[in-house]
Amino acid sequence: MKIIDRLNEDRIHISFEVFPPKTDAGFDKVMDATDRIAKLNPSYISVTYGAGGGTSKNTARIASHIKDDLGVLSLAHLTCASSTKEEVRGVIDNLRQLGIENILALRGDIPEGMAFPTEDRFHYAWELVEEIRKHGDFCIGAACYPEGHVENDHKADDIRYLKQKVDSGVDFLTTQMFFDNDIHYNFLYRIREAGITVPVLPGIMPITSAVQMKRSQELSGTVFPRRFLALLDRFGSYPEAMMQAGIAYATDQIIDLLSNGVKNIHIYSMNKPDVAARIMQNLSEIIKC
Ligand code: FAD
Repeated sequence: MKIIDRLNEDRIHISFEVFPPKTDAGFDKVMDATDRIAKLNPSYISVTYGAGGGTSKNTARIASHIKDDLGVLSLAHLTCASSTKEEVRGVIDNLRQLGIENILALRGDIPEGMAFPTEDRFHYAWELVEEIRKHGDFCIGAACYPEGHVENDHKADDIRYLKQKVDSGVDFLTTQMFFDNDIHYNFLYRIREAGITVPVLPGIMPITSAVQMKRSQELSGTVFPRRFLALLDRFGSYPEAMMQAGIAYATDQIIDLLSNGVKNIHIYSMNKPDVAARIMQNLSEIIKC
């Protein structure tokens, strides 16, 4: 089944994310976390693609396991910046052979020191979207950035390039994490005005430790609002309290989004089934509405 068909249903959908292990040694642990997340009955589980493409086989393997053994829809991420066009085509064909129908098409970060663009690579996600379309009847998702992508000085460029990407064949968008819902509402207004009409899943990251917050900020360049910083300041040195506060903050964000007309939410669950379970418990009655 295609994710877009599910997102178009008139009910609330919550999806989760797992990331593959960097080495084969960590595989069982990730599989165990995935199995536990699947038991929460999410609308789908996405599987990230390691920067550099090194975990490509594991992404496909986990996405296949989610679909075939756990009976949950899976979304395989695919990046193109750090692989040649031939390598990327090989991954797409492998996904098709495994019966994976849903791909999140991403450029990925440009590896440090790499001369880019080069002739043998796709330069932007929209080129990858066009390529995937040539390889089969996939449902294709892509990324978007409510606070703007770090490489763009002007938000107007961001929206213009996003429109180009969506027009190349994107079925739905998932946002970069954000911690202030007003930024998301403003973003939605601007992209709808620009004629981007596909479903947009806000990406919510439950931050449960100070270390995780620092890493998230480095990766995404996101703005942490004063309300979140106060919470971190007060509870950051108490792991259990910080976990509880971070889960409450993410739950609060989700409830606000759902109250304001958003139907589909993606949770960056980061291989943490306990965190995912506690959020689902907080939403148990809400998601039935
Ligand atoms: P693009 O859409 O290609 O955009 C990249 C930059 O180029 C942007 O600044 C854009 O505005 C600009 N641009 C686009 N088109 C043009 C054009 N025609 N001319 C000039 N400039 C243009 N990374 C991973 O390594 N693995 C993952 O699994 C992964 N999953 C992610 C999931 C989500 C939901 C998100 C939000 C991000 C994810 N990332 C992942 C990170 C992502 O790969 C990086 O943010 C990357 O820098 C941009 O990827 P993109 O697909 O958004 O690129």
